[in-house]
Amino acid sequence: NSDLILYVNLELVNKKSDRRYIVEEMLGQGTFGQVAKCWDAETNSYVAVKVIKNQPAFYQQAIMEVSLLSMLNDKFDPDDQHHIVRMLDFFPWKNHLCITFEMLGHNLYELLKKNNLRGLQLQFVRTFSRQILDALIVMKGAGIIHCDLKPENILITPKVNSAAGVKVIDFGSACMEGKTIYSYIQSRYYRSPEVLLGYPYTTAIDMWSFGCIVAELYIGLPLFPGASEYDVLSRMIEMVGGQPPDDLLREAKNTRKFFKHAGSIYPGNEAHDGLRSSYRILTEDEVEARDSKKPKIGKWYFPRGRLDRLIFSYPWKNLNEEAEKEDCLALVDFLRGLVEFDPNKRWSPLQLH
Ligand code: ADP
Ligand code: MG
Repeated sequence: NSDLILYVNLELVNKKSDRRYIVEEMLGQGTFGQVAKCWDAETNSYVAVKVIKNQPAFYQQAIMEVSLLSMLNDKFDPDDQHHIVRMLDFFPWKNHLCITFEMLGHNLYELLKKNNLRGLQLQFVRTFSRQILDALIVMKGAGIIHCDLKPENILITPKVNSAAGVKVIDFGSACMEGKTIYSYIQSRYYRSPEVLLGYPYTTAIDMWSFGCIVAELYIGLPLFPGASEYDVLSRMIEMVGGQPPDDLLREAKNTRKFFKHAGSIYPGNEAHDGLRSSYRILTEDEVEARDSKKPKIGKWYFPRGRLDRLIFSYPWKNLNEEAEKEDCLALVDFLRGLVEFDPNKRWSPLQLH
């Protein structure tokens, strides 16, 4: 994408205010454009500037990011207490929309990598989870769905009084509840069952992703690292047990991609809440027979198993203390409320408050 080359010392100028931002380093790069660490000569401080590609679709989405985030910042979190990134400014530069944000630290995926993907201590999992939840409560109150919650979009805040903290960033996929436009949203590992299945979605999809993130912070690896949507869904069913409720499967647009439907009940197919279902997930052979190619199945990072076994038997953790085992039980309980197939039964941020 040759339209955009940011280099060190390049000046991004907001012509309206004559404010200058000098590029010092690249922080991130994606389909949207680039994020650069810049020196703001006026305030003598660093800021992060997101320079959006100059194509209409990206521009539209960036306008959405600006409007939703400024609403969240100004109206719902005026005192910056709820762990949502602050937007500072936005301006056009050479046909690109630029958005400036407060400068934050590494994202949580980078943090996990630095830790050799062995997961964080429970105390940090707890602190970060509480803070992400705080942001989710505010978003729910504002009726905003983030639509792309994942470790890359949660950033460490610079240490204030050496207390660890995080903030939610990247409202570039966000939308208002009840005004959902896109059906292909969320990053695959963190994609909720209702989005996979093509069912109308709500803020509950962020709670699913949140559950995936909390688990990942503890175990160090994604909970559902599927190489395809089919792989993600079959991992969910194996890990969590049960499957999406029949009425959701009946109404969802993509059910046939993943499930076989029988007129009657599949014997022995324990479905949601122990009810019998008339749907069952396709086997890999059935997917292959239908698509005339093998379904994409990612390599396993950890043995397939139930959620509680995964949390308790994770090799890096040595749970000697009785108290730690109790903490683990609480974590499994917490996760079960979040990675809940039925969006109506999934915990809402307000319930968890
Ligand atoms: P995209 O919409 O393409 O995912 P993001 O807003 O998530 O763009 O930014 C991409 C990456 O840039 C992030 O994952 C993060 O590592 C880095 N980044 C974004 N905003 C900031 C910021 N305010 N401070 C520091 N790094 C940031
Ligand atoms: Mg992002």
